[in-house]
Amino acid sequence: MEKIVSFCKRKGFVFPACEIYGGFANAYSYGPYGVELKNNIKKLWWNKFIDGREDMVGLDGPILLHPKLWEASGHLSGFNDAMIDCKECQMRYRADNLIQETLGLDLEGKLDEMSKTIQEQIKCPSCGKKNWTEARFFNMMFKTEMNGIEGPVYLRPETAGAIFVDYKNVVDSCRVKVPFGIGQIGKAFRNEIVARNFIFRVREFEQMEIEYFISPETEWEPLFDKWLDLQEEFARELGAKPEDIRRYEHPKAKLSHYSRKTVDIEYNFPFGMSELFGLAHRGDFDLTQHQKFSGTDLTYLDQTTGQRYLPHVLEPTFGVDRAVLVALSAAYTEEDLGEGDTRIVLKFPVKLAPTKVAIFPLLKNKPELVAKAREIFTDLKGDFKCEFDDNGNVGKRYRRQDEVGTPFCVTVDFDTLEDNAVTVRDRDTMKQERIKIEELKGYFIDKIAK
Ligand code: ATP
Repeated sequence: MEKIVSFCKRKGFVFPACEIYGGFANAYSYGPYGVELKNNIKKLWWNKFIDGREDMVGLDGPILLHPKLWEASGHLSGFNDAMIDCKECQMRYRADNLIQETLGLDLEGKLDEMSKTIQEQIKCPSCGKKNWTEARFFNMMFKTEMNGIEGPVYLRPETAGAIFVDYKNVVDSCRVKVPFGIGQIGKAFRNEIVARNFIFRVREFEQMEIEYFISPETEWEPLFDKWLDLQEEFARELGAKPEDIRRYEHPKAKLSHYSRKTVDIEYNFPFGMSELFGLAHRGDFDLTQHQKFSGTDLTYLDQTTGQRYLPHVLEPTFGVDRAVLVALSAAYTEEDLGEGDTRIVLKFPVKLAPTKVAIFPLLKNKPELVAKAREIFTDLKGDFKCEFDDNGNVGKRYRRQDEVGTPFCVTVDFDTLEDNAVTVRDRDTMKQERIKIEELKGYFIDKIAK
């Protein structure tokens, strides 16, 4: 993990935020390559789950939503994590995580049991003493204020809320028919007790969420399984190996009263198996609550049967930052080329690669090579993310592009001026082939866009 963190900083993927001020709250910025990777992941998701399906539409709701929404959804009273402090060294921990990691027990939500277990059985991982406060709940929503609004306003702790409050507008304005889903990508904010494990747990992050509305009479289990399959398929499209993905079904006793089933898709991150995505059957809890708190009829009229009902929902949820971490850790490879030579290469799936094609003139000081390479760069850059590089020898340039996962490098050499062809080098096989310039765009469309 440490290797990936320092690599990400060195190569412009992810930087510690506000570093010149000594850093801030374990937050991170996505650098020039990181933002491309992140955008590509969001595009892949949108294509797969929104554009690629007839039963899905998109939405982009606000971060600051009506405070009543959080009363209705239960977040104001129940969106809590338990924290506990070491009285000796003042370190603060999330109580359920401390117990899970030390004893392998899941006591999430059981405050008294958590206090007792930690006080009796766990030493502070930081100072080794056993002198704890009581565990206490802490609401994770960030508060702010808004002109003209009395009382606090909250930064949304998940994107889903905006989907529920706009569900009626979508039904009334678009020709959607149950079963259908609304998907959204956006920022969410949680005042996590401890932000850690790089971009795995941060306080400001992005989610890609879907509310999939179904009839209460639908046989939901096959649909639920289908969503799980799709979530795993998406993880594999990020580069995850099947053996690094597993499902964890929440025990019935731990489920919220409204949920029939909740399953986490876990990934074998460099620090261990942890939640990557989640899927929950939420029944009609959200629409019932919003109907009650808003006084607005949210029932759906089935035009064919004439029945009116509140749809149930399946909620597949995906964390963007965790998806980025999967893509990075699955792609990071160190290849031993012999004689003490190690090649670092990010073996991203082509669609995710921040730069698709790097274009080099063989020599920087030969104007005719530079001009030809620039011409090719200008022609391709409107279709694919390209980079022009004339710095150092070609071998070094290949290595530089390998490190940021660029799948193709194009070199313009002296032969190019004669035969109007270039050398295309493949990141993974390191094989080179000669391609006519006039065929280059078509070649990359086949390799990249399809
Ligand atoms: P955890 O148990 O790890 O705190 P959660 O069960 O609270 O996660 P959900 O409420 O299901 O998470 O959120 C949906 C998704 O949002 C998660 O699967 C994860 O990918 C992402 N996510 C949640 N919290 C964070 C965070 N603090 N930082 C980055 N991503 C997050």
